[in-house]
Amino acid sequence: MSRRPLAILTYHSLDDSGSVVSIAPRTFEAQMQALARAGFVGITLREAVEYREQQGDWPSQRVVLTFDDAYASLFVNALPVLVRHGFSATVFVITGYVGRCNDWAPPPPRIGTQPLCSWEQLAALVEAGWEPAAHTHTHPDLRGVGEYETEREILFSRDELRRRLGCEIGGFAYPYGLISPTARRIAREHFRTACTTVLKRAGDEPLTALPRVDMFYVQTVALLERLIAGRLDRYLALRRWGRRARHMLQ
Ligand SMILES: [Zn+2]
Repeated sequence: MSRRPLAILTYHSLDDSGSVVSIAPRTFEAQMQALARAGFVGITLREAVEYREQQGDWPSQRVVLTFDDAYASLFVNALPVLVRHGFSATVFVITGYVGRCNDWAPPPPRIGTQPLCSWEQLAALVEAGWEPAAHTHTHPDLRGVGEYETEREILFSRDELRRRLGCEIGGFAYPYGLISPTARRIAREHFRTACTTVLKRAGDEPLTALPRVDMFYVQTVALLERLIAGRLDRYLALRRWGRRARHMLQ
């Protein structure tokens, strides 16, 4: 029997730039309110996986909230909203860029230079119940990186998070969602979970190749309500197909 589907939501920055990695703070607030209104709770990936390991299924009435790259805007625009609703989240941190800016690659149009969380801010998130997780040290496309370097990128970032924040690190997200065989092997050997950017709800996938729903595609409350009611899978499949076709043209 297949598992109950679970939506693992992906956010990056919460700001008003309108870039492809930005969600407006007011939109985010409305989305969290809609979840609460529907009786849903936002939880960490670790909590969801612990439930799945104990019960054999994903939890019901839950969504997992994930934030990639640890933009400082989430400290200002997500933390207070989640605290208000009693939600928590997982944050994927690029350890070499903590306290710096998003200049690891040319940023997407419109977002410009944005600050990232400092270690103090990350410690405050952990204090508030958030789960810190690894996202490499410098955010490379791991498909173009050798075996030794891949191992260093992933395991150094995990060890640095563990050392600085004083907690176990069980989660990893592949930069840009791009997986190499070496990265997959390291994720399998050293992490409990690893996230991709495959646009769908999670079900029976291996825990080291979990799909997520990029909230760029689900901005209105109406779409979010359809997602958690299980009525958005066809829409996501179409978007998934469109995204693949677009990548092939680039
Ligand atoms: Zn990233």
